[in-house]
Amino acid sequence: MSNFNVAKFGGTSVANFEAMSRCAAVIEANPNTKLVVSSACSGVTNLLVELANGVQDTQRRSEILTKLAEIHNAILGQLENSDQVASDVYAILDTVTSLAEAASIQSSHKLTDHLVACGELMSTHILAQLLKERGLNATRFDIRDVLRTDANFGKAEPQLETIKQLADRSLVPLCQDYVVVTQGFIGSDSEGNTTTLGRGGSDYSAALIAEAVEASGLEIWTDVPGIYTTDPRIAPKASPIPEISFSEASEMANFGAKILHPSTLVPALRHDIPVFVGSSKQPEKGGTWIRHQVESSPLFRALALRCNQTMVTLRSANMFHAYGFLAKVFEILAKHKVSVDLITTSEISVSLTLDQTDTAGGAPQLPEQARIELEELCHVEVEHNLCLVALIGNNMSESKGYAKQVFGTLEDFNLRMICYGASPHNLCFLLHESVSKQAIQKLHTELFEG
Ligand code: ADP
Ligand code: ASP
Ligand code: MG
Repeated sequence: MSNFNVAKFGGTSVANFEAMSRCAAVIEANPNTKLVVSSACSGVTNLLVELANGVQDTQRRSEILTKLAEIHNAILGQLENSDQVASDVYAILDTVTSLAEAASIQSSHKLTDHLVACGELMSTHILAQLLKERGLNATRFDIRDVLRTDANFGKAEPQLETIKQLADRSLVPLCQDYVVVTQGFIGSDSEGNTTTLGRGGSDYSAALIAEAVEASGLEIWTDVPGIYTTDPRIAPKASPIPEISFSEASEMANFGAKILHPSTLVPALRHDIPVFVGSSKQPEKGGTWIRHQVESSPLFRALALRCNQTMVTLRSANMFHAYGFLAKVFEILAKHKVSVDLITTSEISVSLTLDQTDTAGGAPQLPEQARIELEELCHVEVEHNLCLVALIGNNMSESKGYAKQVFGTLEDFNLRMICYGASPHNLCFLLHESVSKQAIQKLHTELFEG
């Protein structure tokens, strides 16, 4: 293991010159920070996704392009020596313009990835220059030369062995001499096409890079001082968690706590790399350490909310006491590459939710052909506008008496698809999106504010 520390900065942390300067101070504070992974400047990826989905209205298209230029120009204008970096950024903006035009005629996942990657490609040019101007020996590195993935555009799978080999060859030697600034979120397939890891993927990139360079630590710098008992935007009385286990934090990320991309902790866990989450705006406030061994393992640790859920309910009397029904259902879903998230069954029905979205965004859809084939087998109902609430904790399947407290608090809510017991770390259910935040608030008050 090296003594490299990898520091990742999210969109709000690199939103403007002042924010980037705070990142610089965080980097300077830890001489072991050799690798800096940056997101696109705040708001940029959303604008790029809009372009990638195809904007036919030329006025809206030029509004977005102007906004993108303004965001980056505002930072460039505050650099001391911006000539080279401005021309690099403008060249990327030219690419954005032509790809946006192409997407307005016909968009594709491949084109989307090429386009949305431009956000990180621009922010890292600027951040590297800002660090140099503060006297750091910094350099920008194009992570597409290392972060090899498959060609599943929008949600590409990293190819770990290749990443390790490429990192050993180019990235590790560079870190001996420089603070290397590189992009989160993006990679490339074996043909050199740009790919992305899905929305919020910079956390995952940082963890993959930390694993590849055998880093001794991974810091995720964001806009809140650590992981809280729930999203503090939803429950203002949410409190920071100083220390949390990998399993609990993984459950939180999997169940939608936006603070971490769901896959982030997998590489860190594989290589036992401690992860710190803190605020680049208020680094003095400390943050959360995610570790293997933690001192306390409370029954209730946190609440997570994941919206944009698609629930599919399949009903058939043929299911009753029959075998092979579920096998056929899953065969059809597998054939159409539909990934299932949660599942509950009764005697004649099975409800499942579809796995979360890729870079293009929106609720996951049941492919039409899969629906047609399922309808040959049973009655199919698809529902949207649902959110998943997860209560995360410890030893939940062995503890008694708390279900009454949880469900009693929510007696006025229409709960769907309750899943409980498969994991000792969670209890979760769906409800309509219009009441989901209220449910989180009520549960938080009852379980965490006592
Ligand atoms: P970044 O751009 O730095 O990756 P994100 O917006 O992706 O930041 O994630 C940070 C946000 O995650 C916070 O502003 C907060 O609203 C949200 N969040 C959701 N759940 C939690 C939680 N349990 N603790 C802290 N923040 C959370
Ligand atoms: N810029 C990407 C996004 O907004 C990746 C990230 O920030 O993690 O989804
Ligand atoms: Mg994020």
